[in-house]
Amino acid sequence: MIPQRTCVGCRTVLPQPALRRFTRRAGRWFADTGLRSEGRGAYLCSRRCAERVAKNKRYPGFSVEALVQW
Ligand SMILES: [Zn+2]
Repeated sequence: MIPQRTCVGCRTVLPQPALRRFTRRAGRWFADTGLRSEGRGAYLCSRRCAERVAKNKRYPGFSVEALVQW
């Protein structure tokens, strides 16, 4: 069974493989390269949603560094 996750940009629920996971480390967000990693995670479905989240104060530090990894 494929787990379902919610995109934090548009709140759409999608199968996990359709989303990209980002994790927060030391106040900054990084694209998650492994299947599992430490820390708080956020899922995003598209670069558009990543740009939306970068403007959201709920995700401080999610900005250029995370976007270039898309
Ligand atoms: Zn989305």
